[in-house]
Amino acid sequence: MIITDTHTHLYSEAFDEDRDQIMKRALDKGVSRFFIPAIDSAYTKRMLDLKNRYPEHVFLMAGLHPTHVKENFLEELAHVERVLNENEYYAIGEIGIDLYWEKSFLKQQQEAFRFQIQLAKKNKLPIVIHCRDAFDEVFQILEEQKDGDLRGIFHCFTGSLEQAKKAIDCHMKLGIGGVVTFKNGKIDTFLNQIDINNIVLETDSPYLAPTPFRGKRNESSYVVNVLEKVAALYEMDKEKVAQITTANSKEVFGI
Ligand SMILES: [Zn+2]
Repeated sequence: MIITDTHTHLYSEAFDEDRDQIMKRALDKGVSRFFIPAIDSAYTKRMLDLKNRYPEHVFLMAGLHPTHVKENFLEELAHVERVLNENEYYAIGEIGIDLYWEKSFLKQQQEAFRFQIQLAKKNKLPIVIHCRDAFDEVFQILEEQKDGDLRGIFHCFTGSLEQAKKAIDCHMKLGIGGVVTFKNGKIDTFLNQIDINNIVLETDSPYLAPTPFRGKRNESSYVVNVLEKVAALYEMDKEKVAQITTANSKEVFGI
């Protein structure tokens, strides 16, 4: 069984004490493909170090996270463009709009999102979207940028069935993580109405640990708990869901 964690911050300081054990625990459970979203230039070296340590398992993204769009965002975007030419990246992410933490940089977040979508298209790469309290703002830009080259993942999808359909219509797959296991997570109530070919699995570790680890540090091996929940919702075997969602991730990332 090959399970893919399409969104894990394995380079995070949260794993500095036991990163190799975390990797081993995941690999032992069949989680062997890790897609690594970027945050900002401060983490580039950590990401490359991780890739060099696990070259067969780790696949990097380049991008500027919306909560890190600040006064210096143009320099950060230039950095994203530069690293793309220096190493192998499989997506532009995570990018998008976040109005939960900070509303004052909305204009800059929108500009950074548009710029990075265009960068993805230019490089024939998918995008990985982070959206928090900003569905309308994100969809406004997606609708405007939608064309034959736009594709990617709506990471940590927590919207409604209608919003799910809208995301799929913009050529996005839905990144399903710990929230699907939460009692009040809502997406479990309609997920099986969505064609499973539109779904990929993720942890977003170290954040958003699934039940029964909710509130604790998340890690990639816990994507198995997400897999189990998704398999139950679709009334399918775990192995089948792992196979389909891994195939879906290959379709998005091209590897
Ligand atoms: Zn993330």
